[in-house]
Amino acid sequence: MPSYVDPAKCDGCKGGDKTACMYICPNDLMVLNKEEMLAYNQEPDACWECYSCVKICPQGAIFVRGYDDFVPMGGQVHPMRSADSIMWTVKFRNGNMKRFKFPVRTTAEGAANAYPGEKGGSLDDECLLLEADLPTPK
Ligand code: SF4
Ligand code: SF4
Repeated sequence: MPSYVDPAKCDGCKGGDKTACMYICPNDLMVLNKEEMLAYNQEPDACWECYSCVKICPQGAIFVRGYDDFVPMGGQVHPMRSADSIMWTVKFRNGNMKRFKFPVRTTAEGAANAYPGEKGGSLDDECLLLEADLPTPK
């Protein structure tokens, strides 16, 4: 089930050129109606429910209707990000609610480097990165 925007919560990211949800959607589905200053999913059928827009929205305005097999009708799963953790709120259709908090990576954007010191080989080299360092099988 695709994402949808709660118009009562969306503020159009205060009129920036590109909203947070437009920036993050890997499928370029989110667009902003500049007259209403409201974002919407322009092609719900193409949404793969990755939750990226839900997590990044500063207003908590985006929701995903989960499939009935794991989120029964009336239930809801919603993430809330903070600087070092993410809180998942699960609302059951009988009104019960559970929250789960998990730490998240705090590596600065663009700073992740699994192999510091390795610059990578030539594109013409048939070896994979680090392959040349492996011992030769006997
Ligand atoms: S990120 Fe949230 S507040 Fe910003 S435009 Fe998208 S839905 Fe609206
Ligand atoms: S859930 Fe993922 S694919 Fe769907 S609109 Fe949001 S960011 Fe795009």
